[in-house]
Amino acid sequence: MDAAPPPPSVDPSALSDVAKGVFVIGDRRVPLVPNIGVVVGDDAALVVDTGMGPENGKTVLAIAKELAGSRPLTLTLTHFHPEHGFGAQVFKGVARILYNEAQRDELKRKGEGYLAMFRTFGPAVAAALEGTTLVEPDEVYAGPSTTIDLGGRFVELRAAGMAHTRGDQTVHVPDCGVVFTGDLVQERMFPIFPWFPPDDVDIDAANWVRVLARLGAEEPRIVVPGHGIPAGPEIIRMVRDYMIDLGQRVRSRHDKGEDLEAIVASLGPEVRSEHSNWSQPEWVDFAIRYFAATGAAPA
Ligand SMILES: [Zn+2]
Repeated sequence: MDAAPPPPSVDPSALSDVAKGVFVIGDRRVPLVPNIGVVVGDDAALVVDTGMGPENGKTVLAIAKELAGSRPLTLTLTHFHPEHGFGAQVFKGVARILYNEAQRDELKRKGEGYLAMFRTFGPAVAAALEGTTLVEPDEVYAGPSTTIDLGGRFVELRAAGMAHTRGDQTVHVPDCGVVFTGDLVQERMFPIFPWFPPDDVDIDAANWVRVLARLGAEEPRIVVPGHGIPAGPEIIRMVRDYMIDLGQRVRSRHDKGEDLEAIVASLGPEVRSEHSNWSQPEWVDFAIRYFAATGAAPA
């Protein structure tokens, strides 16, 4: 029997540095806890993601203040999903909140729906979301990227275009080769395909794969995934290979005339057993349904 999952709480004791002045509050592989980043420059600091709900947001803000001292804070998100961004209210008025345009628009359009949906995910998740209000960013950038000067170090925010969500963003710290990928990359975890037709079909696996190819080609020194343990660029390739392989297998079964439920029933268990040490196996069937519905087979 499955034990109840642990509460989705950000744990201050999971704080470590992955490079000079680049900190990660690790997810400890707890479901609905993301890896959270704090990047400190000479004059300012950047927070990447908040955790889910105001209490987690408070925890992250306290850690960021401790690390940043008197430096002003900017908050950005890898994407709008609740465990990544639904603690932002605590930062309102305390930090400058900066998203890309697509992320802001997606939060506006889907935020309340996701809040309602996540509140049905059991008492621990509902408790974490208690008192959550959605807040708008103070600033957005249009176009593919913007650069923040933290003093002695620049951080690049890149809008990925629609991939895992409409507003995915990667955060790059070029002086030390660190990239925060959000859920575009997860380590030893099946990629999350939030494919919930008709409410949310905003996934583009072909673009997702292209973004991963570009990220991998840059050979970052440290990849901080949305969930899982920070590692090298090999974890980018693992996700890319998985998606290309799965897309092709769904396509070839579809071309042979197998119907969707038959593909899910036979391919799902096969894929899960091939990745027996990956967590969140429930996302495999969502991915199969996505590939079958869209006919996409990314290359
Ligand atoms: Zn996500």
